[in-house]
Amino acid sequence: MTLKFGVVGTGAIGKEHIKRITSSLCGGEIVAVTDVNQLAAEQVVEQFGLNAVVYPDDKSLVAAENVDAVLVTSWGPAHEQSVLAAIEAGKYVFCEKPLATTAEGCMKIVEAEMKHGKRLVQVGFMRRYDSGYVQLKEAIDTHTIGEPLMIRCAHRNAKVDANYTTEMAISDTLVHEIDVLHWLVGDDYKSVQVVFPKRTKHALDHLQDPQIIMMETNSGITIHVEVFVNCQYGYDIQCEVIGEEGVANLPEVPSVITRKNATLGASILTDWKQRFMDAYDKELQDFMDSIKTTGEPNGPTSWDGYIVAVTSDACLKAQQTGNKESVTLGEKPAFYKNEKEISKTV
Ligand code: NAP
Repeated sequence: MTLKFGVVGTGAIGKEHIKRITSSLCGGEIVAVTDVNQLAAEQVVEQFGLNAVVYPDDKSLVAAENVDAVLVTSWGPAHEQSVLAAIEAGKYVFCEKPLATTAEGCMKIVEAEMKHGKRLVQVGFMRRYDSGYVQLKEAIDTHTIGEPLMIRCAHRNAKVDANYTTEMAISDTLVHEIDVLHWLVGDDYKSVQVVFPKRTKHALDHLQDPQIIMMETNSGITIHVEVFVNCQYGYDIQCEVIGEEGVANLPEVPSVITRKNATLGASILTDWKQRFMDAYDKELQDFMDSIKTTGEPNGPTSWDGYIVAVTSDACLKAQQTGNKESVTLGEKPAFYKNEKEISKTV
């Protein structure tokens, strides 16, 4: 069975996903596209040689009979409406982050999906599909380093555009750590705090850079994430988990080691897309495969999207107050618990 996709938003990541579905992945086909800029959508159909209808808006695309799954890659504030329309029509959804721009919007999606009675939504938190994070999770789950006590992370970009704001360090950058870290240790966040170290001279006046975000989980694991988006040297993602019996690090991206001019060297990536290219492929392939084999997507859920929204809001508040802010999630609905989690609570 081929999963027939309708794409809402044919910008940068929309095109990337269309390209991977049509050229490198198996089992998907693009049959419909829409974008606020209709001309852009038409150009994409031509550019990729798609046999797809261009719809005037997300509602008409979702309603198209031959659309099985909706790929939401429009700008963030438009996601909620498209995801809700897809659930209402009983269609699968792969939604790029954010699921919705507010916690209330994410909760509406959670409630609509539970009312529908079956999981339809996967959120594009691709790091869970990165082989390095998968290995790190395996080391934690098999107790290789004992109980995790602390985590130290860095999320560094060489530089950012002038329109990048202090808040975007949370809403655009940290969101990936918020998702992957609670998945890594199987624990939810209890509180967050943000500290602003000495500002780099490379940041524009309106931007606080770097920032340190401290998060504490319910079981007491403390997490420090350095977000430094003008670090100059490259795109660098680091994660070190310190456990009771040892320490596990996210593997470095493989690179040729050179010996030259009395220096031992390895290159560091500069483009974030390169760093997670395989993970983007794997998340979409898993979305298609799991729908085919189990009838439901298997990746990050609407509830995960909600966790990220609530935790981001607490971080944004902490940026303002400088205080430790609590993260209040409420009980995870049984609908979103997998068998392993259910057996832990029985
Ligand atoms: P982009 O290049 O600006 O593309 C967004 C596209 O959606 C644009 O063509 C935009 O049109 C269109 N659009 C806006 N509102 C729409 C609506 N209501 N209906 C249909 N189309 C609409 O942005 P992008 O970089 O592709 O990002 C898209 C989303 O993916 C964002 O939410 C972003 O956070 C997420 N993203 C995730 C990752 C990741 O690592 N997982 C990476 C990149 C992006 P106009 O240009 O005319 O406004």
